Amino acid sequence: MRTETKCIEGGYTPKNGESRMIPIIQSTTFKYDTSEDMGKLFDLEASGYFYTRLQNPTNDLVAAKIAALEGGTAAMLTSSGQAANFFSVFNIATCGDHIVSSSAIYGGTFNLFNVTMRKMGIEFTFVSPDCTEEELEAAFQPNTKAVFGETIANPALTVLDIEKFAKAAHAHGVPLIIDNTFPTPVNCRPIEWGADIVTHSTTKYMDGHDAAVGGAIVDSGKFDWMAHADKFPGLTTPDESYHGITYAEKFGLEGAFITKATAQLMRDFGSIQAPMNAFFLNLGLESLAVRMRQHCENAQKAAEYLQKHEKVAWVTYPGLPGDKYYETAKKYMPNGTCGVISFGITGGRAAAEKFMKNLKLAIIATHVADAHTCVLHPANSTHRQLSDEELVAAGVGPDLIRLSVGIEHIDDILADLEQALAAV
Ligand SMILES: *Cc1c(COP(=O)(O)O)cnc(C)c1O
Repeated sequence: MRTETKCIEGGYTPKNGESRMIPIIQSTTFKYDTSEDMGKLFDLEASGYFYTRLQNPTNDLVAAKIAALEGGTAAMLTSSGQAANFFSVFNIATCGDHIVSSSAIYGGTFNLFNVTMRKMGIEFTFVSPDCTEEELEAAFQPNTKAVFGETIANPALTVLDIEKFAKAAHAHGVPLIIDNTFPTPVNCRPIEWGADIVTHSTTKYMDGHDAAVGGAIVDSGKFDWMAHADKFPGLTTPDESYHGITYAEKFGLEGAFITKATAQLMRDFGSIQAPMNAFFLNLGLESLAVRMRQHCENAQKAAEYLQKHEKVAWVTYPGLPGDKYYETAKKYMPNGTCGVISFGITGGRAAAEKFMKNLKLAIIATHVADAHTCVLHPANSTHRQLSDEELVAAGVGPDLIRLSVGIEHIDDILADLEQALAAV
């Protein structure tokens, strides 16, 4: 099946007389005839459901669709993108371990790594996504357990050279984890370029309608944990909390990572997506391919319009010829990147504020990547506490406006930009 078809048909094939839409199993618990039957589930001897803190059938149908879209062997849904990225790292790294991460990542993920996970004893080395192979090499330590990056970084819009990062990770016997939120599997499938684990904030394009916060983790099934057994004892030695099961032996390449994350991390942290949210996510996935095409088409036109406008000082969009990442984007995302653009208006902070105030269609929101066109002026919101000098140092200048181009008619979007720019 092609991507467009998987968006509709992936993950769930109803049998004779069953519902066409995935059923919402809105139940915390599941009934068994004997405690022996249930015991087998607790020992991971049989697969099935017993408590929605760990697993729910609705979620698993939607996760299977996302696994199919990414070309993975197993997947799970989490309550948010933050939970997905936390689980993806914490499933293989613990106190005393080290991770190499691109520095161009979502601010929430940076904080999770740099503050919260450091408190848990996990160290991070951040490297520029544009680093040389030598610089990347120098970031590794004997206790490095994974490499992390974003296909298109939010909000920097840098495009990662996935093959370069995969090569370095594999040379050191560790997996590459890629957050593929912005392009979605419609525009990029990182597993095809060497990524081992793929994560998502499904809150963005996948849901696409501002309806449900969520996350997902997909395993490629390609990373051989047993070949690097000493690095990953959590997967390659018996888990005493599950009667001595060794995940990599019992569930193989294709299932070990997600089974461990479900059995241990979901059990202990309970960051599961509500089945109702998984249902909404599935609705979003059905139109994902069509929406991504329109987001990219609209963003391309908006970026070209802004680039030509006399009041616009600069535009960053990886789909624009001449953009620093244009060539890398063409390689990894030949059919389009995403709908997010950043730009600056001549006149800096004051001009940006005037522009924002005059928008009528585009809403001001801290969100990105959904059907509604929205804008954010970080200097006035998410980065409000920083001085102009600090903003420049953070790569978010006082004039930077992040525009998430929606799927309204492009002429209405351009007319809104036009009249707001005229007011500056
Ligand atoms: C939004 C976002 C996250 C965090 O996801 P939530 O669903 O908000 O928790 C992680 N990574 C990227 C690239 C994002 O854009």
